[in-house]
Amino acid sequence: MSVLKESSLYEESLKPLREASAILNLESNVVEAIANPERVLIVSIPVKMDNGKVKTFTGYRVQHNTARGPAKGGIRYHPSVCLDEVKSLAFWMSIKNAVVGIPYGGGKGGITCNPKEMSQNELERLTRGYAAAIAKFVGPDIDIPAPDVGTNAQIMGWFADEYYKITGKYEPGIITSKPLSIGGSVGREPATGRGGFFVTIEAAKTFDIPLKGARVSIQGYGNVAQPIAQYLYEIGCKIVAVSDSVGGAYNPDGMHPLKLAEHKEKTRSVKGFPGSKEISTTDPLTIDCDILVPAALENQITKENADKIKAKLMVELANGPTTPEADKILQEKGVIVLPDVLASAGGVTVSYFEWVQNRMGYYWTEEEVDDKLKRVMTTAFKEVYQTAKQYCLDTSFRVHTKAHQLNLRTATYILAVKRIYEAMKALGRI
Ligand code: NAD
Repeated sequence: MSVLKESSLYEESLKPLREASAILNLESNVVEAIANPERVLIVSIPVKMDNGKVKTFTGYRVQHNTARGPAKGGIRYHPSVCLDEVKSLAFWMSIKNAVVGIPYGGGKGGITCNPKEMSQNELERLTRGYAAAIAKFVGPDIDIPAPDVGTNAQIMGWFADEYYKITGKYEPGIITSKPLSIGGSVGREPATGRGGFFVTIEAAKTFDIPLKGARVSIQGYGNVAQPIAQYLYEIGCKIVAVSDSVGGAYNPDGMHPLKLAEHKEKTRSVKGFPGSKEISTTDPLTIDCDILVPAALENQITKENADKIKAKLMVELANGPTTPEADKILQEKGVIVLPDVLASAGGVTVSYFEWVQNRMGYYWTEEEVDDKLKRVMTTAFKEVYQTAKQYCLDTSFRVHTKAHQLNLRTATYILAVKRIYEAMKALGRI
């Protein structure tokens, strides 16, 4: 990928920030101070592969903004990882953490690799190499990683262990989404889906969208998608379409989320689910449904397919699934979009709870975690909606009218940017 192409990717992700900053009348030098990442690390990680040969991987860690607290964000293992992607993901974490009001800045990391083609031993050596390379720059009060696409609780465990060996201290708050046996939190695994579910409930109440019998379509059926499918199913929604990187399944009568997950576990894909019609990986985006949940990767909804979207409500659980051009088209069409930086914040919220519990050395029950998550997500939705009303909403807006006045994404960014701005101002950084 050329340098020019790469830099434009990050610029694209800054568009909602620029839009919100214009509404807030922020001066351009202040906007640049918010937009630019504070620290960018690029590391080389030589790994001895199982065949005895050394392969060198490139890893990244970006600390975007730490005015509101230590940097916080996941680590992605995927072949498409590049600096610009990590910068965008780190920036979104600054926004996300500010929206839900947790005391963190934004960070993100990644390694360009294909974990599906690596053995467990190779993944462990890669993770330990990455942890050693960035150990000096992370810590419970500096930058706290977590999983993202292609990483999991085991990888967090290896990372923590390497960090403990280097620092000589057992500090479980260095990383979140750890296994329970080493200081993980109950309720972390389904937290992103659970948080998305809570904001969906609030949005449905606010915009009079009936949930019972609502047809749900999901792109990507991984860690974040499976729990929200189950929670929506439990309240009477029908899961009519799902896909993953291999293919998709469609059944207008609905499919059982747990059975879909079992089928994927057994066959590595939702494709071929009994009783379903085979569809493509992208069909769930444009299929006839009431609620669309993009839960795969970024840039899936573009100016090419946005006009074909039929859902009334879109719940963005993937990070950055919609391009700015597509966002405008959806707004014109009156699709209500619960933006990624709000809808997918449940994961980092329970990661924050995990970090708090690690620091107290005292652990909460699942019920306590769930109550606190519900409160955070519900409050965040209400604050975003209030902001939307204050800055960009026709307050008489209802879902059946044209939504040209409503843009919850801009409202979310206004709320977050105000909070980041206030923290930077209070610290004297701007
Ligand atoms: P995952 O790897 O568990 O699941 C991703 C799913 O998407 C997999 O089923 C994969 O097969 C599928 N997929 C990949 N490419 C696809 C394509 N082109 N078309 C259809 N499906 C495709 O990852 P995850 O943790 O569920 O993360 C998914 C998204 O959610 C990412 O954008 C991630 O950044 C975001 N996210 C994750 C968390 C979290 O807590 N895990 C939190 C916030 C946001």
